[in-house]
Amino acid sequence: MKYDIIIIGAGPAGMSAATYALRAGKSVLVIEAETIGGQMSNSPRIENFPTVKASSGSDLADKMFEQMTDFGAELELDRVSDVIKRGEGDFLVQCEYNAFNAKAVIWATGAKHRHIGVEGEEELIGKGVSYCALCDGAFFTGEDVVMIGDANTALSYTMFLSNCCHHVYICTLFDRFFGEKAMVDAVLARENVSYEHNLSLQKFLKNEKGELAGLVFENTQDKSLREYKVRGCFIAVGQVPNNDAIKNLVDLDKGGYVIAGEDTATKTAGLFVAGDCRSKRIRQVTTACADGSVAAIAAASYIDALK
Ligand SMILES: Cc1cc2nc3c(=O)[nH]c(=O)nc-3n(C[C@H](O)[C@H](O)[C@H](O)COP(=O)(O)OP(=O)(O)OC[C@H]3O[C@@H](n4cnc5c(N)ncnc54)[C@H](O)[C@@H]3O)c2cc1C
Repeated sequence: MKYDIIIIGAGPAGMSAATYALRAGKSVLVIEAETIGGQMSNSPRIENFPTVKASSGSDLADKMFEQMTDFGAELELDRVSDVIKRGEGDFLVQCEYNAFNAKAVIWATGAKHRHIGVEGEEELIGKGVSYCALCDGAFFTGEDVVMIGDANTALSYTMFLSNCCHHVYICTLFDRFFGEKAMVDAVLARENVSYEHNLSLQKFLKNEKGELAGLVFENTQDKSLREYKVRGCFIAVGQVPNNDAIKNLVDLDKGGYVIAGEDTATKTAGLFVAGDCRSKRIRQVTTACADGSVAAIAAASYIDALK
């Protein structure tokens, strides 16, 4: 079977694309490697999606999923490893376990957490080091934890952690927060949250079982050392886009994001890119949905123009 459009990634960009493509009368397969909803499913509270005053990210994801499946989207849980263009209107989408054909492809794979790159980090994942407060925060109920990061994700995680942890210490590399002002104000108003700027992580400390026992930072201004004795550390220091599988079909910027304008078109006709994996300034649920809808209409037009 050949689908009209295969959409890779079931985050807000992919699910919005699916809804628009189906309403344009196209058959759609959505392929998702991990979690329906993508990154937003890790957000405890979303307050900036129009018409939804406040919602958990996973509730919003459920609604988008219901909407696209009601319109007839098919879903495959698999990881796409390659996209091959065999001719105009003829793509092979290779996954780990299966392969699918489509006339057009929308790449909406978002981004994943950047690691901080300090020795010992990889071995400590799941032993005290985490990139997802929503997934792992409850393991540290009643304890002190460190949150490394200075932007919206770190702030959103801090908000969540402060509900269950005894104290959340935010450590930032630079001398300020880069998140939305409303979010910074809300987080810093919490009594069990404090922060220290200008801290560069030097070392993870481990106990005899190889679990996290603490963190050593250097103050970048006066070079003094600061030690936090915690069993839990959450890291939110930016993202890396998931674009490896299509790197031969697109141009990437130096951060690895696909270079594409508002029209979501790539240099490969029939391949469109939507959401956080695209080069752009603002990465949010609303902008991901907007990209998804534009990509779907563009993909439908591409198919309609095929002979
Ligand atoms: C903790 C947190 C809080 C946030 N809070 C807010 C907020 O309050 N408001 C807001 O507007 N935004 C918020 N954001 C940002 C928002 O979630 C993202 O901008 C948005 O999810 C991007 O959507 P996307 O569809 O482009 O990508 P993603 O959400 O990253 O979805 C991409 C999907 O593609 C899948 N995928 C990746 N590679 C493959 C592959 N090879 N094969 C198959 N599937 C693949 C991934 O598993 C993922 O499910 C938050 C993000 C985080 C992490």
